[in-house]
Amino acid sequence: MDHIVLVGASAAGLTAADTLRREGFTGTLTMVGDELQLPYDRPPLSKQVLAGDWEPHRSTLRQDTDIQRLDMTLRLGCRATGLDTADRVVTLADGDRLGYDGLIIATGLRPRRLPFGHELAGVHVLRTLDETLTLRAQLLAGPRVVVIGAGFLGSEIAATARGLGLDVTLVDVEPAPMARQVGTWVGGLVGDMHRDHCVRLRMGRHVTGVTGENGRVTAVTLDDGSRLPADVVVVAIGSVPATDWLAASGLPLGDGVLCDRTCRAAPGVYAAGDVANWPHPVAGRRVRLEQRTNATQQAITAAGNLLSGPAEAVPYAPVPFGWTDQYDAKIQTCGWCPSDATVEVVDGDPQARKFVALYKVDGRVVGALGWNSARALREYRGHLTGIDAAR
Ligand SMILES: Cc1cc2nc3c(=O)[nH]c(=O)nc-3n(C[C@H](O)[C@H](O)[C@H](O)COP(=O)(O)OP(=O)(O)OC[C@H]3O[C@@H](n4cnc5c(N)ncnc54)[C@H](O)[C@@H]3O)c2cc1C
Repeated sequence: MDHIVLVGASAAGLTAADTLRREGFTGTLTMVGDELQLPYDRPPLSKQVLAGDWEPHRSTLRQDTDIQRLDMTLRLGCRATGLDTADRVVTLADGDRLGYDGLIIATGLRPRRLPFGHELAGVHVLRTLDETLTLRAQLLAGPRVVVIGAGFLGSEIAATARGLGLDVTLVDVEPAPMARQVGTWVGGLVGDMHRDHCVRLRMGRHVTGVTGENGRVTAVTLDDGSRLPADVVVVAIGSVPATDWLAASGLPLGDGVLCDRTCRAAPGVYAAGDVANWPHPVAGRRVRLEQRTNATQQAITAAGNLLSGPAEAVPYAPVPFGWTDQYDAKIQTCGWCPSDATVEVVDGDPQARKFVALYKVDGRVVGALGWNSARALREYRGHLTGIDAAR
């Protein structure tokens, strides 16, 4: 194999590059990314960077010199626009065509948008460093903030905005924040925590409109007829895999790039990170994870499998691990925490906001959640290695 191309210059792409070199690949390596910055980490964006606790450059994953050591051509600010798997060519927005022997797709996600409102000034999404800095600049003016979507990201943004002393309302169609990710019982505790910090919660409500005056947002309207005055609106209603550039490639696409158990999507083509969808051998179904730890782990497996070839490729079967930081709470999950699971507290005290809960489906443990209980959760995480989450 002479030339490997990595598309997506972020957590998964960079880890894949590291792995290829560590595993002894001495050929040509090219990494293509449509953002201008050196690869940076996203978890601090909605937390330390938005809060102003970190200078933006602290989220950079590798300094220039470390990247140079990878002996790789880095094409930043350059979008991949097409893929020809028969001729093994990636097309770039500037017209260049990159031939490859091996390709790793790590293009992550794009924020989902509402069908209305995004043309108004003051309406934001948050996925990139630039979007974070633009939002932060607006938060400094002391606006009334409405966050639409109370998943992990929306809940974090609400917490950070409250930390800046702002007037914050959090809206979601679900009955509690993060209910889809951790179920309504833990979601209820997350809701209590936000109420304690004086965030107004409007749960179980649909947004029907985002209105403005003179091109600037002024309010969000809900399906009960209420109107939430807003100077800044953050739309955090989930994301979609960044596979638009692959539409004509013939690669199997669905909710992401559809890979096999080894993260392979076509001969010589692998995917890793948020964009990759694969049949999890233990879960017994296709999954796609939007977790930072997965971006690293999956990139290591995908790069290793690309080098070893299909005959020696290993299946990718991680125990998922994710976390969120809100106020003084670090909430970590491992395995699966489906909303219809039975939740059993096995350590600590939910009232004290320090506990571990197990998630059970049909009597089987499929996941665990720790709230300010990293050490205790670690022990349960070990027990989840052979997790049977067949659903
Ligand atoms: C604000 C925020 C906070 C988060 N916090 C947490 C957290 O607390 N805990 C946790 O577990 N996870 C968290 N996550 C999720 C975590 O950051 C992701 O799982 C991780 O970034 C995925 O890495 P990736 O490399 O797969 O994709 P991404 O980080 O999305 O990188 C993909 C890169 O590819 C580029 N790209 C896309 N299309 C093209 C194209 N056609 N051509 C060239 N380049 C392209 C994108 O611009 C991007 O730079 C957070 C995510 C966000 C956005």
